[in-house]
Amino acid sequence: MPELPEVETARRILEPQLKGKTIETVEVRNTQIIAHPQVEQFTAMLQGQTVTKISRRGKFLTIHFKSHDRLCLHLRMTGRLLVIPEEEPVQRHTHLIASLSDGNQIRYLDTRRFGRFWFLRSAEEDTYTGQSKLGMEPTDAALSADYLKSKLAHRKAAIKTMLLDQSVVAGIGNLYSDEILFDAGIHPRAQCDTLMAADWEQLARSIAKIIRWGIDADDITPQEYLQGEGREYRNAAHLRVYGRAGQPCVSCKTAIERVLIGGRNSCFCPRCQRKI
Ligand SMILES: [Zn+2]
Repeated sequence: MPELPEVETARRILEPQLKGKTIETVEVRNTQIIAHPQVEQFTAMLQGQTVTKISRRGKFLTIHFKSHDRLCLHLRMTGRLLVIPEEEPVQRHTHLIASLSDGNQIRYLDTRRFGRFWFLRSAEEDTYTGQSKLGMEPTDAALSADYLKSKLAHRKAAIKTMLLDQSVVAGIGNLYSDEILFDAGIHPRAQCDTLMAADWEQLARSIAKIIRWGIDADDITPQEYLQGEGREYRNAAHLRVYGRAGQPCVSCKTAIERVLIGGRNSCFCPRCQRKI
């Protein structure tokens, strides 16, 4: 499941491929993925648009057009956005094809079909995507211990669950929350209202550090991105706790454990993450 660093990889690779290109025709093969507006309007409005840039907020991508209209997208579990030459065969699970002026096509693939698109007119307020409710970006310089404390210090919930709350910090999912808590030395079950000032300081540092690391480590090329169909991430090979239950901790060799917290699997080192 793509989290902020992988969505940022998609943005970095797709922006130069799409910048200045005009969408000529649009084919929606599965209407379920279009959240706003109705699919007929969506298709009609997208045609003829010229891309100026792609931005990211949390796990949302926004393709901006010369008209100042914009196309927002959330990849959710298995969504992948690729730019492919039009002569390439269309694969299974391709739900949207937008043909570009240069002979390439934007193709959206999604096996689980949870990903969503929203088309917003230039003057249209975004009351649809949920981006207005997002918390701070993990790499925002303003993300401080005080900010985290103001949002979380009164909560009884496990810190693991709170890191997944997009209204606190945007873009963190199951994988990076495990990595952040390992880096901070905090047990995923630790209750927010028991954390001390030093813990919040450490957490603020670890959030920025691990997310920045995730972005930098995922330095795949456009060719690799296309070959891996947008689902191979170079950073995944360097994870310290996520997906490593039963394996020795990279720091102390204790076996990594796995617990279920708020319905999500959480991997941690019982020795390095003693703060509970
Ligand atoms: Zn350890």
